Amino acid sequence: MTGLNIGILAVQGDVAENVMATKMSLEELGIDGIVNEVKTPEQIADLDGLIIPGGESTVIGTLSLVNGSLKKIKEKIANGMPVFGICAGLILLSKKAKDRVVGEMDQPLLDFLDVKIERNAFGRQRDSFESEISMEKIGIPKFHGVFIRAPSIMEAGKDVEILSKFNEKTIAVKQGNIIGTSFHPELTADISLHKYFVNLIRKKN
Ligand code: GLN
Repeated sequence: MTGLNIGILAVQGDVAENVMATKMSLEELGIDGIVNEVKTPEQIADLDGLIIPGGESTVIGTLSLVNGSLKKIKEKIANGMPVFGICAGLILLSKKAKDRVVGEMDQPLLDFLDVKIERNAFGRQRDSFESEISMEKIGIPKFHGVFIRAPSIMEAGKDVEILSKFNEKTIAVKQGNIIGTSFHPELTADISLHKYFVNLIRKKN
C-alpha cells in the first residue's frame, strides 16, 4: 500500500489548522501519508479521506456546488471514503438544516448524514464559548470543545451514533465512516480527534 492521501477542503474556514493537526496525527501514529488542501473534483477524486472545515456552510456549499466538488464528494462518500465534518462541515454533510432564527433555508447540502441540524443553535449570547466535553464511545473521555456560532444536532436517524452532548444538545455524531462535530478540534492543541479520524481512514485502506 502506498501512503494515505488526505484532503482538507479549502474553500473557506480553518484550513491550515486542519492540515497541521492531520499531519501531526500521521506522524504520531507512524502512518505514511500526505495532507493537502483540495478544491477541485479532480483532487477530491484521488483522496482516501477528507476533512470539511468550519466556516460558513452556505458559502462552502454554494461554491462547492458551482465547481462540481459537491457532487464528487457525494460520490466518494457513497463509495465509503471517510469524511470528518467540522461545524459548517457537519452542516454540509447533513440531510436537513435549519437556522435557529431564519428557519428553513434552501442551502446546498451533501444530504448524507442522517441528522437534522439547527444552525447557530447556541444563541447570540453564547455565539462563541469553550467547554470541557467527552467522547467516551471513541476513547476520548476528555476534550476541550471550542464552539463558534455552533450548530447542534436536533434529530438523528437509527444508524447515527451520538458521541457527545453539551447542555442536552448533541454536538458530535458518527455514522459509519462519517464523523461530525459542532466544535472545532483544530483550534486546540489536542489532536486526539484528528488521530481517531486518521485511524478510521487507515482501517478503510
Ligand atoms: N454558523 C456557521 C454556519 O451555519 C457555522 C460556524 C462554524 O463553522 N464555525 O454555517
